[in-house]
Amino acid sequence: MGLLSLGTPLAWDDAKHYADHVRTHGITQFLNIWDRTKDRCGDELLWGDEIEYFVVSFDNEGKNARLSLRQTEILAKLTAITNDMASDRGESDSVPTFHPEYGRFMLESTPGSPYTGSLSDILSIEDDMRHRRRLARKYLKPDEIPYTLTSFPRLGVPGVFTDPYFDPSDAKSSHSLFLPEEITNPHARFPTLTANIRRRRGSKVSINLPLYIDSRTPRPFVDPTIPWQRNIYSEDPEAKRGAALVDHIYMDAMGFGMGCCCLQVTFQSCNVTEARRLYDALVPVAPLMLALTAASPLWRGYIADVDCRWDVISGCVDDRTEEERGLKPLKENRFRIPKSRYSSVSLYISDHWEHRQEYNDVEAPYDQAIYDRLQKHGIDSILARHISHLFIRDPIVIFSETIDQDDMNSNDHFENIQSTNWQTVRFKPPPVNSTIGWRVEFRSMEVQMTDFENAAFSIFVVLLSRAILAFNLNLYLPISKVDENMARAQKRNALHSQRFFFRKNVFPPGGPSRPESRCSSCSSSGASSPATSPVDGTPRKERKLRNCWPDVPRPPNGAPAKPVEDEYEELSLQDIMFGKCDAFPGLFSLVYTYLDSLEIEEEERVKLERYLELVKRRTDGTLKTAATWIREFVRSHPAYRSDSVVSQEINYDLLVAADEIERGVRQAPDFLPQGI
Ligand code: ADP
Ligand code: MG
Ligand code: MG
Ligand code: MG
Repeated sequence: MGLLSLGTPLAWDDAKHYADHVRTHGITQFLNIWDRTKDRCGDELLWGDEIEYFVVSFDNEGKNARLSLRQTEILAKLTAITNDMASDRGESDSVPTFHPEYGRFMLESTPGSPYTGSLSDILSIEDDMRHRRRLARKYLKPDEIPYTLTSFPRLGVPGVFTDPYFDPSDAKSSHSLFLPEEITNPHARFPTLTANIRRRRGSKVSINLPLYIDSRTPRPFVDPTIPWQRNIYSEDPEAKRGAALVDHIYMDAMGFGMGCCCLQVTFQSCNVTEARRLYDALVPVAPLMLALTAASPLWRGYIADVDCRWDVISGCVDDRTEEERGLKPLKENRFRIPKSRYSSVSLYISDHWEHRQEYNDVEAPYDQAIYDRLQKHGIDSILARHISHLFIRDPIVIFSETIDQDDMNSNDHFENIQSTNWQTVRFKPPPVNSTIGWRVEFRSMEVQMTDFENAAFSIFVVLLSRAILAFNLNLYLPISKVDENMARAQKRNALHSQRFFFRKNVFPPGGPSRPESRCSSCSSSGASSPATSPVDGTPRKERKLRNCWPDVPRPPNGAPAKPVEDEYEELSLQDIMFGKCDAFPGLFSLVYTYLDSLEIEEEERVKLERYLELVKRRTDGTLKTAATWIREFVRSHPAYRSDSVVSQEINYDLLVAADEIERGVRQAPDFLPQGI
């Protein structure tokens, strides 16, 4: 979540008149940033995670686990504590930061400063995450606990699921039948975002997740708990038109998706070119990591037949009008838009020769005037497409006080559109007036129950990102296949039941490249330490994960022109990760080969292996994903009636168990290695 501006938010009818203003100035701001930073080079690898939590308040007598709505007090307390810690130490870098999130029951934490590529930093991430959780735990009430579970199982059930209880009948921003107004962060930005998405769309959002049909689930399943009459806004046309599908779990508000917790990792790149390459390479990785981290099988008191949050969030912020969704001919709106603004990436952005335009095979409308303006300013057509595609969206929240901005010194209008394009990977230009460089944010992963797991998946992704750059891996797939992988990744037990499109040959022409050489496009002043020994010129190993990798030159006879369809195949995730015969060594093997190129102490290797081992054991199935573990916990609970219902009692016991696992007082050997 970006900066929270303070001010008076405009309702949609007023805000929409400023949409072009925000877009025009947003592009001016981007171009100003571009002019200042396009040649910036040599930034070292800096990276950091974002972890989201929900806070649960336990009613131990009534055996109910409810969402605590004390975010404002909790954040005020944590901010005061961390400020004190920072002033005691005389520096703020080592003191974590806590941020508000959409749900009034949520928190987000980030490290006090980003990690570098040093092994010691990488190996400190679990401690850093644990430190943040300890802080959060310490300053909560005795009956409150912060959780890193992706979805709260009973969000939106009839009865008491928040502390304090609020009646959903007057949910004025969302018009939800299930979630009270008070579920949302009270900062003006969030209720306005909720209401303006609904107003722009012309109806409530509507999400139907397939129900997990168990042996005693009533069929056809027509949800008896939907309180059609309860809401004073029940004239809502969408609801009247049968928004809730049979055999599905129906959800009707932004809070169902934006109330989920995830794990994100951001990397700083050497320069804009490397950021664009890394972005593209991570696009096909996003669905794979989603399947591996799947953690959210329970929704609104039911077991779903999916394991992930992605489609819920995508649907819950879908502000497209009926015209834009293709349900009516275009009249008021300018574009048919195939995807929600929360969705998988639709366009690759690198100008590398390996990026074939055929890979961009899904419809990705763009604003022609913005595209022309960007091109006229010297931005290449590929990046101009990306930005002008993001800018087909309207700004949803506009504060009256910040309509006029100094475009040299602000990026607010740019960020207004950029940061409400919630895609699997985000390309982040340097902020104005800061030392931060070009960054790429990896956004698909579900948050894991323990910091050990969150550290493991973060470390795996950072190592994979270096292997990709060091070996010049080419992971390009047509975007339509990446989208298909996203759909498959969310299915129940996708890790073991699905196959995923993957590139047959990931190496550059001439085979794997060596990771020793150095980027020639940067002046050595900015780049990290030299690749060759200054004494004898021999390649020198480094103990640091780094940026600034050399590019693969285009082969003299041009790029190979195989039909795109011959470039990929369908593989199991096990084959993708562990390799497939001799043809493809697998992502783990590439990560290990990369590690071999570093001069790592044995002790560090052992420590790293502990994290990689978790990811391997999740992949090979000797450990369950969180989604599978949670689903099985519910289904084997003595109070479960095989009817797909997650009762208050089951939810309570599940949350107690998840907390015990997190604290290490309960072993779950089928889920986590023992002795963690
Ligand atoms: P957002 O919510 O906008 O995605 P946050 O500020 O919550 O972003 O988190 C950004 C993450 O990026 C944090 O983990 C932070 O440590 C990390 N980070 C900060 N500066 C840099 C940098 N220069 N390069 C890479 N990562 C950075
Ligand atoms: Mg967040
Ligand atoms: Mg954040
Ligand atoms: Mg983020």
